[in-house]
Amino acid sequence: MNPTPDEPKSSNFLRQIIERDLAQGSYAGRRFAGTPGDAAHHAAGPLDVAKIRTRFPPEPNGYLHIGHAKSITLNFGLAAEYGGVCHMRFDDTNPEKEEQEYVDSILDAVQWLGFGWQANGTSHLYQASDYFDFMYRAAEALVNAGHAYVDEQSADDMRARRGDFNTPGTASPFRDRTPAENLARLREMRDGQHADGSMVLRAKIDMASPNINLRDPALYRIKHAEHHHTGTRWCIYPMYTYAHPIEDALEGITHSICTLEFEDQRPFYDWLLDTLCVLGLLAQPRPHQYEFARLNVTYVITSKRKLKQLVDEKIVEGWDDPRMPTIVGLRRRGYTAEAVRLMCERAGTSKAGGWTDYASLDIALRDDLDPKAARAMVVLDPLKLVLTNWDTLMGAGTVDACSAPVHPGHAERGRREFGIGRDIWIERDDYMDVPSKAYFRLFPGNKVRLKYGHVILCTGCTKDAAGNITEVQAELVPDTKSGTPGADAVKVKGVITWVAAHDGVAAEVRLYDRLFTEAQPDAGGRDFKASLNPASFKRVQAVVEPALAAAKPDDKFQFERYGYFVADRVDHRAGRLVFNRTTTLKDTWAK
Ligand code: ATP
Ligand code: MG
Repeated sequence: MNPTPDEPKSSNFLRQIIERDLAQGSYAGRRFAGTPGDAAHHAAGPLDVAKIRTRFPPEPNGYLHIGHAKSITLNFGLAAEYGGVCHMRFDDTNPEKEEQEYVDSILDAVQWLGFGWQANGTSHLYQASDYFDFMYRAAEALVNAGHAYVDEQSADDMRARRGDFNTPGTASPFRDRTPAENLARLREMRDGQHADGSMVLRAKIDMASPNINLRDPALYRIKHAEHHHTGTRWCIYPMYTYAHPIEDALEGITHSICTLEFEDQRPFYDWLLDTLCVLGLLAQPRPHQYEFARLNVTYVITSKRKLKQLVDEKIVEGWDDPRMPTIVGLRRRGYTAEAVRLMCERAGTSKAGGWTDYASLDIALRDDLDPKAARAMVVLDPLKLVLTNWDTLMGAGTVDACSAPVHPGHAERGRREFGIGRDIWIERDDYMDVPSKAYFRLFPGNKVRLKYGHVILCTGCTKDAAGNITEVQAELVPDTKSGTPGADAVKVKGVITWVAAHDGVAAEVRLYDRLFTEAQPDAGGRDFKASLNPASFKRVQAVVEPALAAAKPDDKFQFERYGYFVADRVDHRAGRLVFNRTTTLKDTWAK
């Protein structure tokens, strides 16, 4: 699927790498047995029909956010673009609590964004814990080949001996054990004979390497913990840096794309896979890791931990609160999958970090919805207006039919029908007793056009004892109805939106704005709660045109003058209309 149907895609270093690999046939002779597996498994399979393989590997420990959307559009998008396949993989090597809620919501988010893991009749949905047997087998192979050892130093000693940027590390006293000793120890670890933290399996690489990640990194640790898939079968668990390259290789991944913080791990990624290929355990050609700068978006936070804090402390109403930068939040707010993909594509992919303005998401949404969204008129802060000459002119109790295009650019989509009668709703701020400078809307003696309706002449208003305006009066100017001959003979400077009292429908409208007032709410360790925007949510009781009574949850509209709105997917239903403001219109309402 093409993430940006209308826009030429700009090249980036990942596209260049893939194009180079395709041109050189780097992966042309690669076999893929249809399912993940070791060298022998794939060797028995056919040539891989997928030109490249990528993967999206979330940990199922939270809800996905806009940063993950970047990774999803990149991995699934590149695979689709270059005749490849992208695997959906849960990186569940940590025996920490996985919640089915997170797994379901991650799968849902990927599909909502428009991607899938089915290819050529195969479901490429994997979980890393399925590879524990292989990972352990590979660990024994490394031990036997003299590439790994069991270290019984304390964590403190290990840290002290690792050295630092300026100082080479020093060897552990356990480094020179024989493979047989190490194998026996590793098996004891596996069999539960040792306590958590008492020893680890380490790779034997180079304690003097300038890259600290190559100073004998840990491969396995002891953790007597139950895993949600493998239960109590294992009491040792692989380290992420050991597990991830193996997961990629077993799945026949060609381009393993990750964020820049893994750049320093790439030498170990290469060492591990090269070593296991030489030992005949993993298929060649093996995967390669490429890093890009993570997507940072202004006015939001994208750390799962901090997002959880917003939920737990009830600063927002849940993971899908429309102000949350989670995929479920963005979706509920009314952002479309197309807009999110477009924004991610436009943000570009590079190694240079930077910030993407949140406004770019709104721009993408407008670009997506302007040509699509049905239009509607609503009054967000209703004030009654009475047409005092209606009964004389039109007859008491009558209504006159009006209409407007469903979409101004698509006559074929038909027209919205609504009526006008003696009483209508207007916006409270469309009337002023004493007009300010350049105010062209309603004030006594001024004429305005009711959009898609007639020209009216304002005559005055009624106030309550406290001085609040309770009603505005005006007279209909005859022969000025929009679309009728001569309607434009009476010139006005102002056009206002309105809804008739007899057919207007009550609706709750939720006006959302950015959650933070600071562009980088958590930058430099700042307390993000100090910059919460107190005006990020406002609920109003509105009146909307009758066509909106038929809106279904998730239906999107442009409310004329106000912006893009969506029928709330949680609370909106027939008889209880609830609309969320996704974003305002680019242009402010003309005077
Ligand atoms: P968080 O820091 O929010 O907890 P994470 O990186 O730990 O996120 P994972 O579940 O490991 O979350 O992420 C899955 C994939 O999404 C990884 O490949 C990760 O690099 C990528 N990813 C996460 N955040 C971003 C981001 N802001 N921009 C681009 N990719 C991201
Ligand atoms: Mg992570």
